[in-house]
Amino acid sequence: TGQSTVLAIHNIQIVYGGAIEAVRDVSLEVKAGQIVALLGSNGAGKSTVLKAISAVLDAEDGEIEKGSIQLFGENIERAAAPHIVRRGLVQVPEGRRLFATLTVEENLLVGAHLQNRAVLEEERDKVFRLFPRLAEKRSVVAGYLSGGEQQMVAIGRALMSRPKVLALDEPSLGLAPLIVSEIFSTIQTLRHTQGLTILLVEQNASRALAIADYAYIMENGRVVLDGTSEALRRNADVREFYLGLS
Ligand code: ATP
Repeated sequence: TGQSTVLAIHNIQIVYGGAIEAVRDVSLEVKAGQIVALLGSNGAGKSTVLKAISAVLDAEDGEIEKGSIQLFGENIERAAAPHIVRRGLVQVPEGRRLFATLTVEENLLVGAHLQNRAVLEEERDKVFRLFPRLAEKRSVVAGYLSGGEQQMVAIGRALMSRPKVLALDEPSLGLAPLIVSEIFSTIQTLRHTQGLTILLVEQNASRALAIADYAYIMENGRVVLDGTSEALRRNADVREFYLGLS
């Protein structure tokens, strides 16, 4: 197809503390407007890849030892986190990381501290249209929200930076099935209505494959399998080990 490449990772190796190799020889590609899933069990290295893309490995003494990462054709493997946000890639971190004592609205506004007031209010209102429940609870302190509502705030906060690419780390974690459906349908809406490109890290393979175009499966720091969601859903190993089907 003629879709342009938004994000391309070539053979990256990532090491923590100068010694522990968490990711080895991983390559992946995300094209404009796609939803691409990065699947695998606990500790497979998925979050480490996301952190490398967002340039937040430093905080954990992690380092890209080899390989390259290109965002819209620009090499970003040595870029700083704010630069990557300005280039249009924003991460929604695992565990949501909200300011528990700030209100919904305050959490949204601090997510976009670089923009002017009119832009801020416009983006905030867009988030409230996307998640009407957050509009109702705009003055509620984030610590009092349900897990699903907190995930909505985390996604909303990322959207405040007007991203072109959204990188989500386990958005379904700890949420009830009905709420997961709601969050995943919002992810699809964002792709369809705003043309957002999505990189989705998930342990919940069946949910992720239901909305992704393409997926990579990681084990022990490596990509062991990749393909269209359709092909992966038919794959016998995927069915047995990741979907719990026989
Ligand atoms: P999870 O869903 O649990 O986050 P994951 O697939 O995202 O799993 P990572 O968090 O990327 O996996 O972890 C990959 C490997 O790197 C694991 O062996 C983990 O123990 C190790 N690791 C992760 N963070 C650090 C760190 N800050 N320091 C040292 N080792 C780490």
